[in-house]
Amino acid sequence: MISLPIYMDNNSTTRCDPRVVESMLPYFVEQYGNAASRNHSFGWQAEEAVENAREQIGSLIGSSPKEIILTSGATESNNLAIKGVAGMYRKKGNHIITCVTEHKAVLDPCKRLERDGFAVTTLPVDSYGLIDLNELESAITDKTILVSIMMANNEIGTLQPAAEIGQICKRKGVLFHTDAVQAAGKIPVDVEAMGIDLLSLTAHKLYGPKGTGALYVRRKDPRVRLDAMLDGGGHERGMRSGTIAVPGVVGLGTACAIARKELPVESNRLHELRNRLHEGISSRLDHVSLNGHPTRRLPGNLNLSFGFVEGEGLMMGIKDVAVSSGSACTSASLEPSYVLKALGVGDELAHSSIRFGLGRFTTQEEVDYVINDVVRAVNHLRDMSPLYEMHRAGIDLSTVQWTGH
Ligand SMILES: *Cc1c(COP(=O)(O)O)cnc(C)c1O
Repeated sequence: MISLPIYMDNNSTTRCDPRVVESMLPYFVEQYGNAASRNHSFGWQAEEAVENAREQIGSLIGSSPKEIILTSGATESNNLAIKGVAGMYRKKGNHIITCVTEHKAVLDPCKRLERDGFAVTTLPVDSYGLIDLNELESAITDKTILVSIMMANNEIGTLQPAAEIGQICKRKGVLFHTDAVQAAGKIPVDVEAMGIDLLSLTAHKLYGPKGTGALYVRRKDPRVRLDAMLDGGGHERGMRSGTIAVPGVVGLGTACAIARKELPVESNRLHELRNRLHEGISSRLDHVSLNGHPTRRLPGNLNLSFGFVEGEGLMMGIKDVAVSSGSACTSASLEPSYVLKALGVGDELAHSSIRFGLGRFTTQEEVDYVINDVVRAVNHLRDMSPLYEMHRAGIDLSTVQWTGH
């Protein structure tokens, strides 16, 4: 028996793995020390747990534990990376390069820096969501201090060519930050092989708790320095003051260790389930288009647009399935996703898009249920759609003269 509703929104957040919760529990009521307390065993135990977690986090991305700065999540990690570099390297230059499909936690810090006198180049993407490496290279000037390009996109799953970006940045002597929230634990990540200087990740996107994240900060070749955002006790090599959230950090460490161990098998499983979902839907419905890259994408992500249906109706029609739509509710109006817009997807198809985020706890039975549910809902909406009827009658809708504006 399948239990409803079905959670298929793992790009938004993930369920905590019970093994993660288990590992966190002792650090609430038994070993509740402050990791900065040097005078007693409570502090030492907490510190040991944190250092162990730092090892686990570092191992997932090929870094030394000393290069891991613990934060409250990826929004903080991205802010610290971008504003921290901007503050520290301002004398060297004032130019930052990013890309139009980044998460707001990258775009908005860049916007703030722009108001503070920095110059920001926001690279466009092609219809798959990929940046052009030649365009990146020619955007770099002697004033450029940082390139911030995400590893995997949270809406469409497209994987940017991180290793190639890293090579260009190395050659040009520019720091490379990547928001790897969606990639960490889902695809192999290696800060050395990919030439990454700063990397953001967060526990709650990889089956860990909300409110804990990390920033990788390279310590040699080059040694990256950051202007701190928070002033205080000088924790985390002075880059991030504040008492360490020991249970959360332990949870993040366990989440990284599990992801690292299970990645090869799990990514294949998700890949197959995602393809099953895609084929199941598109073999039974016409006018279904894929958003993002057909192959260079996250294994668990599927973003589809459905022609001749209206987005809100579709979401209502599959209300037993928790997914995200391509419309973002901004104050009063429904805005189509800026990511889909950047790919050149029209407003209509952006509004009728659905992001399916499959994860560790997604089963084949759930996928089959979702296929049937989506097919049923889309057919139902199209049965009532005059546009679809006209289309089926062979009328070219682009030539129709509509009256009454
Ligand atoms: C979720 C997400 C973030 C924000 O992470 P928080 O830990 O929730 O602050 C940043 N970037 C990407 C790509 C994300 O998917």
